[in-house]
Amino acid sequence: MNWTGKSESGESEEASALATAEAYDGVVAHGAESPAPEIDVESADDATAEPPTVADLLPSPAGDDAAPHQDGSALLQMLGALVPAPTRPLPPGSPAALAERVRREFTPVLPEVGLGPASFDALAAFLPEQTVRAAHPRTVAHLHCPPDPVAMAADTLVGALNPSQDSWDQSAAPSAVEDEVLAAFSALAFGAPGAGSVTSGGTESNHLALLLARDEAVRRGFGLDPAEAGLPAAACGRLRILASSLAHFSLARAAAQLGLGERAVIPVPVLADHRLDPRALMRIAAELSARGERIAAVVATAGTTDAGAVDPLAACAQTARAHGAWFHVDAAYAGGLLLSDVRRPLLTGLELADSVSVDLHKLGWQTIPAGLLLTRDPAALAPISRRVAYLSDLDDEAEGYPNLLGRSLRTTRRADAVKILAACRHHGRAGYTRMIESCFGQAAYVAARFEADPRFELALPPALTTVLFRYRARQGDPDRVNAAVRRDLLAAGLAVIGRTRLPEPGSGPGSLRLKLTLLRPQTTAAELDALLDLIARTAAERDRPET
Ligand SMILES: *Cc1c(COP(=O)(O)O)cnc(C)c1O
Repeated sequence: MNWTGKSESGESEEASALATAEAYDGVVAHGAESPAPEIDVESADDATAEPPTVADLLPSPAGDDAAPHQDGSALLQMLGALVPAPTRPLPPGSPAALAERVRREFTPVLPEVGLGPASFDALAAFLPEQTVRAAHPRTVAHLHCPPDPVAMAADTLVGALNPSQDSWDQSAAPSAVEDEVLAAFSALAFGAPGAGSVTSGGTESNHLALLLARDEAVRRGFGLDPAEAGLPAAACGRLRILASSLAHFSLARAAAQLGLGERAVIPVPVLADHRLDPRALMRIAAELSARGERIAAVVATAGTTDAGAVDPLAACAQTARAHGAWFHVDAAYAGGLLLSDVRRPLLTGLELADSVSVDLHKLGWQTIPAGLLLTRDPAALAPISRRVAYLSDLDDEAEGYPNLLGRSLRTTRRADAVKILAACRHHGRAGYTRMIESCFGQAAYVAARFEADPRFELALPPALTTVLFRYRARQGDPDRVNAAVRRDLLAAGLAVIGRTRLPEPGSGPGSLRLKLTLLRPQTTAAELDALLDLIARTAAERDRPET
């Protein structure tokens, strides 16, 4: 079964490797149930091609790989036994009732005399049913992907070995793995190996990118190194970061933490499709420069968190260059498209960035955390490098022991590159291309269903794998009805759907929309149909006049 509207017969090694982990469907995320479908790159890229009909998007009936396989690796089998397939997206009931149960069953946290193995066994019995299960087809709220069993197994392996990446003598091979992963991903982004940092996610990646941008702007504009001297008085209140009004909040928070202030982030208006307006960017940049302010960074978003909009990257790069500014791309969401032959063109212009944030725990099926901050310049991270006597000294470096301390804002840190390597080599580009196509296909399918169904209103055509919509309330207030639907489904343990506000130019916080974030490749059309029916039925019950 696949979401590309095509299927093919024949067995491939890769497909059977994928099928292995399918045995743990439920714990797992990955698609590619059938051998490599032929992907029609031409028509997938051609925006003017006829849009697919709903029927084109329907997956063929499950079958080929639906049966459990017995040949998983030992660790995968163990994980399958430890974490049973989810029976529901989340536990029904209130947060308070669940907190009370945790208090009753799992405290005191530190008993006087330890419980021994009963401690773990109790948690292992309790948590799978009491945790939001990202692997359930009705868990579709956030960029919170079902974890790939290969990543899960590699993560467990790393946990058991416990290397730390801040010095070679706490890590050995995992530090070489990190070198390879960063070289490979920076090459995917920029066309040639650059540098990078394995991060805890987009928030840390964006923070690090703005730190590099700030330091570069201060060095260039004021002739001193802010890492040592701090921000010069002349720079205070004059460094600016330009990002779309829909850019992620972590940028503003980073600006505050970096001493620039949240007000340094100037929101650039967006077009109707939520992409940054490149002319507005040019105009605002010119106005700021004319006022003597310095543009430290232009930030483009590749995949806004709600609509998945990809800003015009090449145009943003051009404005950044014209003003001598750092060009950062926040591709926390769409960065996963680096793995897809078909969708990589959506990221055209990314190669012009000075730095790129990529979250493989979103559109990459990694266990959390799996962030990358990639830089085009192999020496870009020099400003954060450190040498300390107890971790990495010069004579060791001279003898060939690498200093990884300078590669991260953290000191002790997990070897998250290992799970990235494991999953990439397991699936290959072909596997990821299929998984990504499945999620795009699902988004197109759901959007077509919303457009055809008068009970729903589609907010805008999906750019990636999220769909924004609302139930058309006839009697009640639309915001109240839609908010209640989401909470009713949560409270009943039936579905985890997203909610957000759709920005309306020039006015307030915007009106409420529901959101489906489709990151589970093996979800079927029937499962999506059932979810939409569930939403419509729940909404109909809530659609009453105010009392
Ligand atoms: C998720 C997201 C972030 C934050 O990433 P975390 O991994 O949650 O820290 C930043 N930017 C965008 C566009 C995102 O979608």
